[in-house]
Amino acid sequence: MHGLGVSPGLVCAPWLAFGTPVATSAEDPVGESVTAELARVRDALATVSGDLEARAAQVDGVASEILLVSASMARDPGIVSAAEENLRAGMPTAHAVSVAFAGYCAKLEALGGYLAERVADLRDLGNRAVAVLLGVPMPGIPDPGHPFVLVARDLSPADTAMLGGSDVVGLLTAEGGPTSHTAILAKSLGLPAIVNCAELDRLVEGRPVVLDGTTGEIVVDPSDLRQAEVAEQITEARARVEGSRGPGRTRDGAPVGLLVNIGTVDDAARAATADSEGVGLFRTEFLYLGRQIAPTLDEQISTYTSVLEQFAGRKVVVRTLDSGSDKPLPFLDLGAEENPALGVRGLRVGTVYPDVLATQLEALGAAAAATGADLWVMAPMVATAEEAEGFAVLARARGIAKVGAMIEIPSAALRARDLLEHLDFVSIGTNDLSQYTCAVDRMAGSLAPLLDPWQPAVLDLIGLVGAAGTEAGAPVGVCGEAASDPALAPVLVGLGVTSLSMVAPSLGAVRARLAATDLGLCREMAAAARAARSPQAGRSAVAALASGALR
Ligand code: PEP
Ligand code: MG
Repeated sequence: MHGLGVSPGLVCAPWLAFGTPVATSAEDPVGESVTAELARVRDALATVSGDLEARAAQVDGVASEILLVSASMARDPGIVSAAEENLRAGMPTAHAVSVAFAGYCAKLEALGGYLAERVADLRDLGNRAVAVLLGVPMPGIPDPGHPFVLVARDLSPADTAMLGGSDVVGLLTAEGGPTSHTAILAKSLGLPAIVNCAELDRLVEGRPVVLDGTTGEIVVDPSDLRQAEVAEQITEARARVEGSRGPGRTRDGAPVGLLVNIGTVDDAARAATADSEGVGLFRTEFLYLGRQIAPTLDEQISTYTSVLEQFAGRKVVVRTLDSGSDKPLPFLDLGAEENPALGVRGLRVGTVYPDVLATQLEALGAAAAATGADLWVMAPMVATAEEAEGFAVLARARGIAKVGAMIEIPSAALRARDLLEHLDFVSIGTNDLSQYTCAVDRMAGSLAPLLDPWQPAVLDLIGLVGAAGTEAGAPVGVCGEAASDPALAPVLVGLGVTSLSMVAPSLGAVRARLAATDLGLCREMAAAARAARSPQAGRSAVAALASGALR
């Protein structure tokens, strides 16, 4: 079977389904006394909350925070009183809890915004409490005590947050796309993952499957011989990854910068220990999200300084605030927009709120001066050479030495040569470039094949940017999710890309793949992928060229 490979790697293990919640009914038997049943409800909620806290302790960062928030929601006294009311009205116990959670969900949904986003988490809590009360398996990720491939329709952010401390060794979903949170989290955990696989009904639970997160290929019920072959391939791949160290290079020694993507100061501390040449994308949104007023100049100087210090001696590419569209900020009122993905977002926000951009550039210039760091600064969502020029003037006036732009809009890719007249470098954001090239919402899982960075049209645009960079003698990076696909890495290099930036766990596989491929072969692969009529045909053509090199 085939799906969309979104997190590379090979795995063979039995598969288990994500636990589906049990429906309750008003016709179920009613419990003993209201007092006794209410005590059972309290115990069930405490069990759910305790379980989430225990899982939070096994993971860190955002995943841990998500779980702790859910754990505290399970202790909300309002839920207990709503359940009590339902019990007094004569409802069966599990149904009383289910109805209490449904009422809360409806209230949050009506409030809209951030609170409405919590509904999925709350519903999950209700399902868990019901499972405890009925004594049936917990919905969510199974806990069989052995490694397994998790199969699901799709996963919510809360589900994916649970993956860290689990026995899941691979992920297979029916929905989702290459920039979905399933894909991003799987990659950050180094789990092979395939999304958008329409044929999951053909699987029989508990039987082994082979997942190839690089090609998107799934082998159902592999023979013993096939399983042994896969085990050998996994060992070989691991040895190749563990054996490759240091700066990125093709087999014949052409340098390809291997960099990390970070989004917070904590990320920086973790990623600083990875074997990378620095940071290729520091998303600065975290400084602004969830705030009522903009962060001050001093606060920003101190944050940037601490990130730059973590990477002393290595390059750090910082992206200025990319708000608007899917990342709205309360203190940057952009008015109502019919179509925010095509509205005031990225660098455009700086034209409405010039002070916000000026303060950020000021802080970055000051942090670079204080640390002597190799700071590069780029703007998101640049559409024209004029915009690039305007940004470069602002940044250079604050003492920033290396100024660039992200290439995320087809117009910028088509005219990359014009942009580079004003810039020192560019970095291609394949997540947005794919969305705008094929006119598909990057979160639309059902349209995921159109978001595939192997789309020949996207590769054509990357090729144009690569050629413009070569002509101008300017570095061309890729910092979207596409940079972490080891099969695509030589193709990108063949298109003229000079550095790749990704989450730290992906570095090894990309480095190993480049080390096995001559620059000439990278160019052949690039030509083959562009000549293909579909992403799948491109993958096959490149795999055929690679198999010779890897043997
Ligand atoms: C991109 O669009 O590829 C990118 C790196 O930026 P973001 O995912 O933050 O929009
Ligand atoms: Mg983007």
